[in-house]
Amino acid sequence: PLRVGVLGLQGAYTEHLYMLQRLGQTMPLEARIVKTAAELDPAQIDALIIPGGESTAMALVAERSGCLDALREFVHKQPTWGTCAGMILLSTTATQTKQGGQNLLGALDITVQRNAFGKQTESFIAPLTIDGIAPADQPFEGIFIRAPIVEVAGPHVQVIGKVDGDHGLQHGERIVAVRQGHLLGTSFHPELTKDLRVHAYFVQMVREALGL
Ligand code: GLN
Repeated sequence: PLRVGVLGLQGAYTEHLYMLQRLGQTMPLEARIVKTAAELDPAQIDALIIPGGESTAMALVAERSGCLDALREFVHKQPTWGTCAGMILLSTTATQTKQGGQNLLGALDITVQRNAFGKQTESFIAPLTIDGIAPADQPFEGIFIRAPIVEVAGPHVQVIGKVDGDHGLQHGERIVAVRQGHLLGTSFHPELTKDLRVHAYFVQMVREALGL
């Protein structure tokens, strides 16, 4: 079976695990929480999900627990999906970081603006059309919690989803879902819905990366 790890240092990781377990009822797929450098090994897991939470805190825990280098190495080669804080961590550049900046993994060639919509109270839900995942007549329920936006997407990054309308500090179309080869990033939280489509898309990315 495919082995998909969920980074369990901080944030909403059990929710991702439950979604993968649901998918595992229909296909050979094993999901597990990973927390250590030894577990972040392509010999142990084929792919990784970095959950939402707080990217500064997550990077700090990764550094202190000694798995930051293993994490960096893993995401540069193996299929990885970052949701919200996870997407920030995957990025090359982040703005509105705390003073002194924060550790990033530098794999996904995007500039992300943290907390782009405003404070926690500006959290919202909006229907999204996502290329290859959710057509306009069957939109995905995008749950945005103190979410980042993608300000700049590099030349090899495919923009697959945007949110539109007035949401907190943002007005008009903003990039909220991207794909760059083996990497996937979403500003929102599919693991907080019942909709398995983004998880299924990621698992399909993993199968393709493994040549299955
Ligand atoms: N605001 C958080 C950060 O900057 C992300 C929020 C989330 O993951 N829901 O890390």
